[in-house]
Amino acid sequence: MKKINIDELVRPHILHMKPYSSARLEYEGNDGVFLDANENPYGSVSGGQHNRYPDPLQMQIKEKLAKVEQVREEQIFLGNGSDECIDVLVRAFCEPQKDAILVCPPVFSMYEHVAEAQNIDIARVLLQPETFQLDMPAIRSKIAEMPNLKIIFICSPNNPTGNLIHADDIEVLLQEFSGLVFVDEAYLDFSGQTTWVHRLQEFDNLVVIQTFSKSYGMADARLGILYAQERVVHFMNTIKLPYNVNQYSQELALKALDKISVKDQYVSELTAGRDYLMNELAFIPLVQKVYPSDANYILFRVQDANALYAYLIQHKIIVRNRDSAPLLKGCLRVSVGTEAENQRFISVLKQYSN
Ligand SMILES: *Cc1c(COP(=O)(O)O)cnc(C)c1O
Repeated sequence: MKKINIDELVRPHILHMKPYSSARLEYEGNDGVFLDANENPYGSVSGGQHNRYPDPLQMQIKEKLAKVEQVREEQIFLGNGSDECIDVLVRAFCEPQKDAILVCPPVFSMYEHVAEAQNIDIARVLLQPETFQLDMPAIRSKIAEMPNLKIIFICSPNNPTGNLIHADDIEVLLQEFSGLVFVDEAYLDFSGQTTWVHRLQEFDNLVVIQTFSKSYGMADARLGILYAQERVVHFMNTIKLPYNVNQYSQELALKALDKISVKDQYVSELTAGRDYLMNELAFIPLVQKVYPSDANYILFRVQDANALYAYLIQHKIIVRNRDSAPLLKGCLRVSVGTEAENQRFISVLKQYSN
């Protein structure tokens, strides 16, 4: 068991900060005469019943998630999308103009984005070309060089390359690094692998995020989940805005968690769609390389990604142009769509002559 003192990692001023105490937390009963939160007791101008503040700690959802993932409720933080989880984590642990995070591009840009907004230093160690695995020697030297490094961000399956990051490498980082190791599992469901959440007992410095935005198909509800040891979650709760997840998103999440088999059904349709796209792309001459995918998108390389991107737009097919990302010259990323959308994409691609 890796012992890390989270109290020594958190920004010093947060260590003794008191969480904002909302009216809804001071009295937790369900019935009573609620005259504590300056709400409108009659109702809502919009119609419907929207006059009461939602549960600031989203306990009903956490109860369900705790059962599903076999963790304690206190090890769960819910955010307005996993974007908010990332933002709150960075703001809790990284001191502006002093601390740093490490990212391994090409990767999801949100980690850098929130760090940049807080004036937090960003160390970049590129993934290895073509395999898109971690460059462990280079990461190790950054760790050695940078005592101000607080969080290493890993995305597995990696967006936009689609591959899982070797679990052995992640485990080495968890053992060797005395800051936080963050594993983004937004696409885990499409990989068939087990979650790192089950390893929280072993590693005090492990932080995992998942989301309702992809396999659950609930991107507009904005609901992300972060799992970490209790002390990490405690500090995040301390600085978060009190009502960060609205009532409707909470209700939707509760419904979804009673129907996880529906998600599994979507996942199997999407992985079948991914296989179809993989097979088809491999036989299109203009496609030079199709990268393996454990996610619901595929990265592929062509001679001129900008030209192909523009051509697809003309046919009202929108993919992600990754041509300018490090290591991804000539690459486009296509999300798996419905069967009809996938077929349309392939047929338009086949008509391209350039
Ligand atoms: C889509 C995505 C997320 C999810 O973000 P939300 O804010 O929960 O919608 C997280 N990480 C990665 C790598 C993603 O691609």
